[in-house]
Amino acid sequence: MNIDSIKNGIVIDHIKAGQGMKVYDFLDLGKLNCSMAVIQNASSNKMGKKDIIKIDSALDVDLNALGYIDPNITINIIQDSVRVMKYHPELPETITNIIRCKNPRCITSTEQQLPHVFRLTDRQKDEYRCVYCESRASR
Ligand SMILES: [Zn+2]
Repeated sequence: MNIDSIKNGIVIDHIKAGQGMKVYDFLDLGKLNCSMAVIQNASSNKMGKKDIIKIDSALDVDLNALGYIDPNITINIIQDSVRVMKYHPELPETITNIIRCKNPRCITSTEQQLPHVFRLTDRQKDEYRCVYCESRASR
């Protein structure tokens, strides 16, 4: 795979060095069959070092959820070898089944089929709380 020539896909850039695999796991990229590359410790003028993920496929996932990991990540959407969109993920209002509530008294610990939903309660502080028990998400 020539990692510089993605035809239709996504380049996730400006990931903090060392966080690339976290993003990889977060998006569950291991289950995809398309070619992709996780580039670690690429040199960056802005950041010194950074990680980059290149995915040679249109992804059907909510990339804004990445805002939960790091809102400074840059998402580039490539179509026909041209970058058609570039944006930073926003902190999502709600995140579902990405983090789990750790409160042992929370209904999600007994009702296994319930989705784990957290709501953004403080954008400045980047704070999320469980919609069932109001427990703060631990990061
Ligand atoms: Zn809870």
